[in-house]
Amino acid sequence: MDLKIVLLGPPGSGKGTQTERLVAEFGFTKISTGDLLREAVRNGTELGVKAKGFMDAGKLVPDDLVVGLIREKLKGLKGGVLLDGFPRSLEQAQKLEEFFNVEMAVDLEVNPEVLIRRLTERRSCRACNSVFHLEFNPPKKAGSCDKCGGELYQRSDDTEKVVRERFTTYTERTAPLTEYYRKKGVLKSVDGMGAIDDVYKRIAAVIKTARK
Ligand code: ADP
Ligand code: ADP
Ligand code: ZN
Repeated sequence: MDLKIVLLGPPGSGKGTQTERLVAEFGFTKISTGDLLREAVRNGTELGVKAKGFMDAGKLVPDDLVVGLIREKLKGLKGGVLLDGFPRSLEQAQKLEEFFNVEMAVDLEVNPEVLIRRLTERRSCRACNSVFHLEFNPPKKAGSCDKCGGELYQRSDDTEKVVRERFTTYTERTAPLTEYYRKKGVLKSVDGMGAIDDVYKRIAAVIKTARK
């Protein structure tokens, strides 16, 4: 599957969860800016040092840093690509056009009330970045990843206070992208409510209509 896709949707809408499955079924190369930035923070790289304060505050990392990161990762990539968490601002979307042609923007629509709960009870794998939920998608063995056995942890920005900041950031900076991609004729809005499997089936159906 050769499609170039971006996944939109607010924090907690299921982008990471659905990306994992889409990669398994369709073989896309996934690029998640959140995962890459957390890795940079963990490794104490120059990028990580610059990004940390913004992430802890629930703000966007400056566009030039993130665009540079994406540009690097996309270099020479062939085949289908799924961008999870990028672009997150109009400026990023415009920059992206210089080197990547978005063929489909999947926007996961979820009622705001359920997002807080999804995020504050999210657990992530330190080793492979898989995501779980204490109630909605619990790991088979408490505290360890089903996929790789890695340790599950709670992200420091998954506290209610930072989550609320991230929603504000989303509304101000990221939500306008929906309109942006609608105007380009590539927007596919998908109902992100209900069970993970049901949401997956909806996204997979949309992707299959564009199969090439
Ligand atoms: P995002 O990447 O958009 O922030 P995630 O995929 O990490 O979202 O999902 C956020 C949390 O919600 C995770 O704990 C995940 O297990 C859970 N989750 C994802 N999709 C659903 C769903 N359809 N129903 C209930 N919980 C979900
Ligand atoms: P979520 O999956 O909950 O939406 P992410 O893991 O995608 O969160 O992102 C976590 C944090 O990393 C964001 O709150 C932001 O600080 C930073 N980040 C991720 N992607 C971008 C981006 N494209 N532009 C700027 N900052 C980003
Ligand atoms: Zn894992």
